[in-house]
Amino acid sequence: ETEDERTAQASMLFENFVQASTCKGTLQAFSILCRQMDLDPLDYSTFYSSLKAAVSTWKVKALWTKLDKRAQHKVYNQNKACQDTRCLVIGGGPCGLRTAIELALLGCKVVVIEKRDTFSRNNVLHLWPYTIHDLRGLGAKKFYGKFCAGSIDHISIRQLQLMLLKVSLILGVEIHVNVEFVKLVEPPAEQAEDGPGWRAEVRPSSHPLSDFDFDVVIGADGRKNTLEGFGRKEFRGKLAIAITANFVNRNTTAEAKVEEISGVAFIFNQKFFLELREETGIDLENIVYYRDHTHYFVMTAKKQSLLDKGVIINDYIETERLLSLDNVNQEALLSYAREAADFGTNYQLPSLDFAINHYGQPDVAMFDFTSMYASENAALIRKKHGHQLLVALVGDSLLEPFWPMGTGCARGFLAAFDCAWMVRGWAQGRSPLEILAERESIYRLLPQTTTENISKNFEQYAIDPATRYPNLNSSCVRPHQVRHLFIDGQQDSCRVERGGPTRRSANLSKRESEVHPGRLLTWCQKQTQGYRGVNITDLTSSWRNGLALCALIHRQRPELIDFDSLNEEDMAGNNQLAFDVAEREFGIQPVARGKEMAAG
Ligand code: FAD
Repeated sequence: ETEDERTAQASMLFENFVQASTCKGTLQAFSILCRQMDLDPLDYSTFYSSLKAAVSTWKVKALWTKLDKRAQHKVYNQNKACQDTRCLVIGGGPCGLRTAIELALLGCKVVVIEKRDTFSRNNVLHLWPYTIHDLRGLGAKKFYGKFCAGSIDHISIRQLQLMLLKVSLILGVEIHVNVEFVKLVEPPAEQAEDGPGWRAEVRPSSHPLSDFDFDVVIGADGRKNTLEGFGRKEFRGKLAIAITANFVNRNTTAEAKVEEISGVAFIFNQKFFLELREETGIDLENIVYYRDHTHYFVMTAKKQSLLDKGVIINDYIETERLLSLDNVNQEALLSYAREAADFGTNYQLPSLDFAINHYGQPDVAMFDFTSMYASENAALIRKKHGHQLLVALVGDSLLEPFWPMGTGCARGFLAAFDCAWMVRGWAQGRSPLEILAERESIYRLLPQTTTENISKNFEQYAIDPATRYPNLNSSCVRPHQVRHLFIDGQQDSCRVERGGPTRRSANLSKRESEVHPGRLLTWCQKQTQGYRGVNITDLTSSWRNGLALCALIHRQRPELIDFDSLNEEDMAGNNQLAFDVAEREFGIQPVARGKEMAAG
C-alpha cells in the first residue's frame, strides 16, 4: 500500500463517517475508520491529533481549522486544563453531547452513556443566533451541508444530535449506546482512598462500564432526571396544551415557497387567530411552522376548542387525566393538527401527509405545558470514603424549556458551558463551596436569558461565563449558602434540604428595608388601577388574595397571566401563580409559598 493509497483510503473512510445519517451508522463508520487507520479512540488525549495526522486531505482541512481554533482557546490550556478528570455524561441528547465536547476540549476523559441507539426525533429546535454561531464553529456545515443556510434558524433534533455525536467522537469522547444509567454506586469502604471511586450502576448490568470510576457525573438525561439530590421547583402557569405535528417534506418548489411562521412574532397576530377560529373552530394561542427535514408545526391550543372538535373526549380538571390516552381521540387530533397547519400556511402545502415517528405512527403529539420544572440547584458535591464527586445537571434536566419559544437548546448550551466552567474550577482545586456558590450564582441568570440580554459578541463566547452574560455577578450566592450542597458521606440521607421558611422570611425583611414604602405603594396603586378585585391600600393585607401581584405582572406582560380567569377566592393559587411566573420570567426568587401568603 503506497502513501497515496493510504491517504485516499483515510479520506474515504472519514467521509463515510461524516456523511453517516443515523446514530448506529455513525458509530459503525467511526469504528471502521479507527480500525483501518490503526487509531485508538481510547487514547483520548492524543486521539484528535492522531486522527488529524491520518486524515489530512484538503477536503477536511477546513474542519480541522475550525476545531483547532476552538481547541486552542486559552481556557482549555492546550487540552490540559482538566487532564486527570474523569467524567460520566448521562444522556446523548443535544445538551449531554454539547457538554461532553467542552469537557473533552478541557482534556477530561469523557464517557457518554445513552440508553437508546437511534436518533429519531423529527421535532425541530429553534436556534438563537449564538447557537448557530457556536455550531458553525464546530463544523456544522461539514456534517450537514444545509445547516442554517440563508435565514434558517432551526434544526431537527435528530440532525443536531447527529452532528454533535460526530464532533464528540472526533475529540476522543467515548460513547456507549444502549446503556442506561440506573444509579450512583458509592466507593467501597474497605479500600478507602486507594480503592475505586464513584461508579455507576448501569443496564445491562454486565456492561464493562460498571467498572468505570469517575470524578464528575453530568445528568443530561432530559426532563426526567434520574440523579438524586436535586429538588424540583414547579412553575405553574395557566393551562397550556401544545401539539406538535410533522408532515413529509418532499422538497418541491411549491413547498419551498411556503412561508415559515416564527413563533415570537406571531403570538401577537390576533387577526390570524380570530379568522382561524371562525373558519375552522380551532382556537390557538400561538403557532410555529418550520420547514426542515419535515414540515414541523408546534401550536398551543385552547382546551375548549379541543373539546368542541372532539379531540379531548371528556373535560377533567386534572390535566393528566384530561390528556390521558383514553381521553384523546387520535383521529380527531390528527385532523385538528392538519387543519391548523393547512390554514396556517394558507393552504399552500400541496400534500399534508404525516411523517412517521419512532413508533411507526403519524408523528403528532399533544403535551401539557401547564407546569414546567426546574432543578432547585445546578450542582452538588458528594463525598464518601475520601472520594469526592461533582454532580451537575444540564439541559432539560436542569431547566425545562417551553418548546414554542425554543429555549431548550439555547439555554441548554449556556448551561453546558457553565457546567464545563465549573468542572475546570474543580480540576484547578478550588474549594468545593466556592465553586458550588459560583455555579448557583450563574444558574440564577439562566431562566432569564433571552436573545436580547446575552452578550452579542459571539466570537468571544467561551466557557467563562463572563464572556456570555453581561450582568454577571458570580458571587451573589455565598459559599455558606450552599453548604447543604456539599453532601458528606457522614449524613445518612442524600436528599438535599430545601430552603425552609426561616430563610424565606429573612429574605422578605431584607427586601422590604431596601425600598421606600410610600413611593412603592403609590407605584403599585398606579400600576393596578382598574383591575378587578384589586384595591391596594397597604403593603400587607391588600396583597393576601394574590390578585394584586397577578395584576402587577399582567400590567407588564399581559401574555403571562390570564387575569380575567383568576378566582378571587383561590388565594393560595393566585399567589403561587404570581410567584412562579415572577421567578420563571423575571428571575425573582419567591419570598414565601402561595399558601403562606394567603394565610397572611
Ligand atoms: P434530551 O434531548 O431529552 O436528551 C436526553 C437523552 O438522554 C435522550 O437521548 C435519552 O434517551 C437519554 N436518557 C434518558 N434517560 C437515560 C438514562 N437513564 N441513561 C442513559 N440515557 C438516558 N423542544 C423544542 O424546542 N421543540 C420541540 O418540538 C420539542 N419536542 C420534543 C419532543 C420530545 C419527545 C422530547 C423528549 C423533547 C422535545 N423537545 C422539544 C425538547 C428538546 O428536545 C430539548 O430541549 C433538547 O433536546 C435538549 O435536551 P437535552 O439534551 O437536555 O435532553
